[in-house]
Amino acid sequence: MNEMAKTMLKIAVWYGVHGLKIIPIYGMRKRSFDGKGVLVCGCGNKECKPPTSGKHPMIKDWPNNATCDPVIIKNWFEKVNDINIGIVTGVASNLFVVDIDNKNDGHTTLEIMEEEHGKFPETVEVLTGNGKHFFFKHPGFPVKGVTGVYKGIDIRGEGNYVVAPRSLHFSGNRYEFKGDQAMGQILIAHAPEWLLKVLKAKNGTQTTTARSGNSNKGKTEGWMPLSIPDGKRNDTLNRVAGSMRRPGMEWDEILGGLKVVNANRCKPPLSGAELEKLAKNMCRYSK
Ligand SMILES: [Zn+2]
Repeated sequence: MNEMAKTMLKIAVWYGVHGLKIIPIYGMRKRSFDGKGVLVCGCGNKECKPPTSGKHPMIKDWPNNATCDPVIIKNWFEKVNDINIGIVTGVASNLFVVDIDNKNDGHTTLEIMEEEHGKFPETVEVLTGNGKHFFFKHPGFPVKGVTGVYKGIDIRGEGNYVVAPRSLHFSGNRYEFKGDQAMGQILIAHAPEWLLKVLKAKNGTQTTTARSGNSNKGKTEGWMPLSIPDGKRNDTLNRVAGSMRRPGMEWDEILGGLKVVNANRCKPPLSGAELEKLAKNMCRYSK
């Protein structure tokens, strides 16, 4: 075992000791023969590419084989040098995760959410390769995994997992705890009430597949922000107009819908003339 592998084993055992169910995930390793040190997935499959690489389980039937048992964890982790750690989310580990994906503008959505509801409470926060994970205590009702609960924001709950510090992301960055958070002094906070309401409303609706990283990103419901700031208003209203034009609505019907969304969500609202222009422009596209 190299030094990093020893560190990963130590961390994985530590998670287990603290009641987090963990699974071994294929790590990223440097492909050395081309001299460039390109990172490839440890599974060895040439077809394994982002967003899957460095994120899929090394064991079969992971939901049933995830464990807190240090002996089993040691057995998994001492055999491989390039290995990542998965933490199972949901009631299994008594937590769920809000996954902010900056590639899908999650950071912008997070800003909008914070403006609307205030910042998330201090909690375990992990910097991932392209965003953040916020950890929250399990609320006691099942938390369904939802891809795109808002644009660029996923929920990881029952039957999901997240890749955990200090795993190596395909970007070359390691997953790290934010700032001065350190092993042994991490407190997972209760989720804010408004978020629990959203999760409850999502129960029984679309669920994610059982892995972190999902091909349905951006195609799902829930992209409509509660508050649309200056700079995002035209784009968002255009998307709304498009969703009305496709099934065949005419410009005056579209305008009616835009007026309501504009009044309820745009901060500050666009003018009536701007809305009219948006609706008319949209109708240049065929139904
Ligand atoms: Zn792979």
